Amino acid sequence: MLRPPFSQEPIPINNWDVIVIGAGAAGLMTCLELPSNLKVLLLNRNTSKVSSSRWAQGGIASVVRQDDSFDLHADDTLKAVMDYVIFSCRNAS
Ligand SMILES: Cc1cc2nc3c(=O)[nH]c(=O)nc-3n(C[C@H](O)[C@H](O)[C@H](O)COP(=O)(O)OP(=O)(O)OC[C@H]3O[C@@H](n4cnc5c(N)ncnc54)[C@H](O)[C@@H]3O)c2cc1C
Repeated sequence: MLRPPFSQEPIPINNWDVIVIGAGAAGLMTCLELPSNLKVLLLNRNTSKVSSSRWAQGGIASVVRQDDSFDLHADDTLKAVMDYVIFSCRNAS
């Protein structure tokens, strides 16, 4: 059951099999992956638009293939950040 936004009604605490905190990509994916027979409560801190997931405009990058690794993922991420920093510095003036 979806609650209306900005509701001030107390949420019953004993009605849930799972409580997920945070409605970013991780929280939403967790909810989608849970068995559909479970009663899930998804809580988010506020109704503002502050979440990293809103900024992830480049597609979600993660380690999913056998020939990938967390080290390669970290290297790629750092390289992308450095490329962006260099680009920003060169175009700042
Ligand atoms: C500028 C930027 C660009 C990015 N670009 C990419 C990209 O292109 N590709 C990519 O793969 N990744 C990107 N990332 C990384 C990616 O956004 C994050 O790894 C991912 O979104 C994290 O998801 P999350 O659900 O863990 O966190 P979030 O999306 O931040 O969600 C956490 C949620 O929890 C809520 N919350 C926090 N504290 C509480 C609390 N105490 N009680 C209740 N709720 C709470 C917050 O309000 C928020 O909604 C980017 C990150 C940034 C900042």
